[in-house]
Amino acid sequence: MIEINHVDKWYGPSFQALKDCTTSVTKGEVVVVCGPSGSGKSTLIKCVNALEPIQGGEIILDGIKVNDPKTDLPKLRSRVGMVFQHFELFPHLRIIDNLCLAQEKVLGRKHEEALAKGKKLLDRVGLTEHATKFPAQLSGGQQQRVAIARALAMDPIAMLFDEPTSALDPEMISEVLDVMVDLARDGMTMMVVTHEMGFANKVADRVIFMDRGEIVEDAKKTDFFGKPRSDRAQKFLSKIL
Ligand code: ATP
Ligand code: MG
Repeated sequence: MIEINHVDKWYGPSFQALKDCTTSVTKGEVVVVCGPSGSGKSTLIKCVNALEPIQGGEIILDGIKVNDPKTDLPKLRSRVGMVFQHFELFPHLRIIDNLCLAQEKVLGRKHEEALAKGKKLLDRVGLTEHATKFPAQLSGGQQQRVAIARALAMDPIAMLFDEPTSALDPEMISEVLDVMVDLARDGMTMMVVTHEMGFANKVADRVIFMDRGEIVEDAKKTDFFGKPRSDRAQKFLSKIL
């Protein structure tokens, strides 16, 4: 589903943010990406969705080469859901309208169809009674659940998450993780940057550990948490567990 082959990414002429990164995410797989600050996790996620260009290697998304000038990037991006640390809902739109907008504008769905889908997804993330509120009237955890529902409304082939809970107050983290666990168990293909190792332990198939732009470790969850591993990963884990 997502193939990342020998990817090099530079910011400017002198800083290499990704160094020969190779990994893949198969359909239905959940891969957690972790590593110290500045190791390139967000960069990797952004490159998958072509929000950042790459200078070497290739990324293939559902058979389509992301870094090919002929690829229709807006169309490609519309098929991959992305959820960031900050929820970025449209502040002037009611929750339900946040869920409908891209369905109608990008996918050309009729309003009734978009509305039905939006309501179904709001129900899925437990926010039906908030449909007519504005984002600022919701808690951070609720807003992030709306952001997930909005991404799902586009029927994505995969979901990319970049530290979706790290800006939330502790008591709101689990409500967002619960939605993500539900999604993972439902078979969604997911690439998740997070330091929530409880989440990784519950649903990840594999864990990728990055350091200084390199994929240092790419292992099955049980191996990552169980067996001895690289010094760098060990040090990192000892700090966050
Ligand atoms: P964090 O855990 O803090 O979110 P990260 O692993 O997501 O870190 P990235 O944001 O991918 O790290 O950044 C990797 C490196 O690239 C860092 O050294 C960062 O300073 C640099 N970098 C990121 N974005 C840019 C940019 N737009 N221009 C120049 N350098 C950048
Ligand atoms: Mg980051």
